[in-house]
Amino acid sequence: MSLVVAEDITKDYRVGEMIVPALRGISFEIEPASFVSFVGPSGSGKTTLLNLIGCLDAPTSGRMTVAGADVGALDRKEGAAFRGANIGFIFQDFNLLPVLTAYENIEYPLLMVQNIPVEERRRRVTALLEAVGMADQAGKRPDQLSGGQKQRVAIARALVTSPKVVLADEPTANLDSKTAHTVVELMKKMRDELQTTFIFSTHDQKLVDEVEILFRLEDGLLASRGNGEG
Ligand code: ADP
Ligand code: MG
Repeated sequence: MSLVVAEDITKDYRVGEMIVPALRGISFEIEPASFVSFVGPSGSGKTTLLNLIGCLDAPTSGRMTVAGADVGALDRKEGAAFRGANIGFIFQDFNLLPVLTAYENIEYPLLMVQNIPVEERRRRVTALLEAVGMADQAGKRPDQLSGGQKQRVAIARALVTSPKVVLADEPTANLDSKTAHTVVELMKKMRDELQTTFIFSTHDQKLVDEVEILFRLEDGLLASRGNGEG
């Protein structure tokens, strides 16, 4: 069964009297354990689409199904519970909590979930710190880390609840191109190890060789679907 199914999705934003059609009829399917990128220029609809998959917003028409659930039909509370159980997020500006260490940032989502014993939390956080190559930086706060290191911590944080899907909206936009490549490589490695589906957006053409499944967005439409080299 496909993990994500988009069926003729449209999304309009209302700005005063005007309607802005951000997505104009998009359909696709994403299989479990995929490594997928949505590529397109600024304004093409990438963030809008990731927000719909992430259950942060509902489509104007069409249906978005994630892990069997019609996510557009969930109310606020159901949506939050669905996200907590199924989806991890990685952001362009990292969004780490500045007062927490790398270790504590990764552990944080587990503290929001009940009934995870302290030993189990320690085991998961330690394993992820190791996997993202940050074990020796566990005690540092975000302002003591480079951009690439912060994004490594953010990748671990997104994975700590064992989500089915990790959504990353332009996760490399604030990184130099070499670091951007290493971050994409790390996401792919984590997909290989954990079989977690990664869906990320980018406007950087240089990253497209790294992905396996590439959807090109243009002006709210899916312009093409292709296979990258990775
Ligand atoms: P991308 O992430 O590819 O840059 P977006 O999904 O942010 O594209 O935007 C797609 C279109 O929708 C753009 O025309 C943008 O101006 C518009 N848009 C996005 N968010 C909003 C919003 N909250 N209100 C009004 N228009 C929006
Ligand atoms: Mg965007």
